Amino acid sequence: MTAGPRSSELYARACRLMPAGVNSPVRAFASVGGEPIFYDRASGCRFTDADGREFIDYVGSWGPLILGHAHPAVIEAITISAADGTSFGAPCAREIELAELVVDTVPFLEMVRFVSSGTEAVMSAVRLARGVTGRDAIVKFTGCYHGHADYLLVAAGSGLATFGTPSSAGVPASSAGHTLLLPLDDEAAFRRLMTKHGDEIAAVIIEGIPANNGLLPQSKSFVDVLRTECTRHGAMLIFDEVITGFRLGPDGAAGHYGIEPDLVTYGKIIGGGMPVGAYGGKRAHMERLAPLGPVYQAGTLSGNPVAMAAGAAALRTLLADGGSTWDRLETLGARLETGLREVFTKHDHQWSVVRRGSILWLALQDGPAPVTAEDIDSGAAERYAGLHAALLERGVYLAPSAYEVIFVSAAHDEAVIDQTVAAFDEAVAEVFG
Ligand SMILES: *Cc1c(COP(=O)(O)O)cnc(C)c1O
Repeated sequence: MTAGPRSSELYARACRLMPAGVNSPVRAFASVGGEPIFYDRASGCRFTDADGREFIDYVGSWGPLILGHAHPAVIEAITISAADGTSFGAPCAREIELAELVVDTVPFLEMVRFVSSGTEAVMSAVRLARGVTGRDAIVKFTGCYHGHADYLLVAAGSGLATFGTPSSAGVPASSAGHTLLLPLDDEAAFRRLMTKHGDEIAAVIIEGIPANNGLLPQSKSFVDVLRTECTRHGAMLIFDEVITGFRLGPDGAAGHYGIEPDLVTYGKIIGGGMPVGAYGGKRAHMERLAPLGPVYQAGTLSGNPVAMAAGAAALRTLLADGGSTWDRLETLGARLETGLREVFTKHDHQWSVVRRGSILWLALQDGPAPVTAEDIDSGAAERYAGLHAALLERGVYLAPSAYEVIFVSAAHDEAVIDQTVAAFDEAVAEVFG
């Protein structure tokens, strides 16, 4: 079973009108096979599909829904603010409320600017870093995703750094030509690159914890080397916390590693399920943005009042009770991790469950858990596709791609986690014998 008859009918209609019937590629189920399941409505940790079937959701809209679907506080904030007008294109108090929550929560942030997506946040942060440093080159790591800006869609080369070649048609080689690629977890390669090119580099960008190509947590020592080398060469360190910001705790991956990036980007959770991105850093850097400074960046719907209200409601809920929601997410995440490990062991598979807080990833391969994109075994994706279908049959919805992570929300609970583990037990037995 994948899609039911009503989903199939919607998919056929959608395919006539939109490429592959979707507005973002991974939704089309191409990498797991079958047809996508159309959502009809969702609440808490569950959604109902177009055929009236219920699923436990571990995608959570790809990260934003840390409180679960249709959280009452978020819905109330959206309803109230929408009634006051859905867009102004002028300053309003709701922007200040979200900005205060973000700036007052994250110790090293002095200013933010809001945009409408994670992609836009990263593009703008890179432009700011280039404007501040007067340099063009940036360094990115293989397997890190930073949205779909031209110069960040660059194929991953392993080994020594190479100037990037585009990994999407439509990206001129010249746009990718300022992007240097390095493997994750390779301090020596990074040091060599900085020795050679450090003075040409505007920014080094890394996902707080790489979570778009499997979950590839980096060692503290690697992240520390990024920080010290950037400082030494006058390059800016950009932490892309579009997934990890407010997911791992109030100060995200930067807090987890105990370092201060120069610029940080947010998205996903910061909008409470509405389209919001943000980038921020020290006042001296942020004041280089127009109209105060020469770095231009703008947006018709930036700081949208309804989106600001949703984000503020989500952050307030997370920060309430001394941030106890993050403790709860840690407990639930650990329970799922333990349950899944036990299932794999019981069925004699040496696979890994990688977890940081409420983010989990199944590395369906033997040996140590991968820490770089190059470590990921290509056979794992095929195993994942089988498991994915067997779990759908049992009402458990995982991301339709082996490289995507599992998100646990605060609307999941022990009973739901245990039900999920039982479904995995059956699914692993059925698919792998
Ligand atoms: C999702 C994501 C982006 C892009 O955000 P969009 O809102 O999809 O444009 C950028 N960086 C990271 C780390 C992400 O996970």
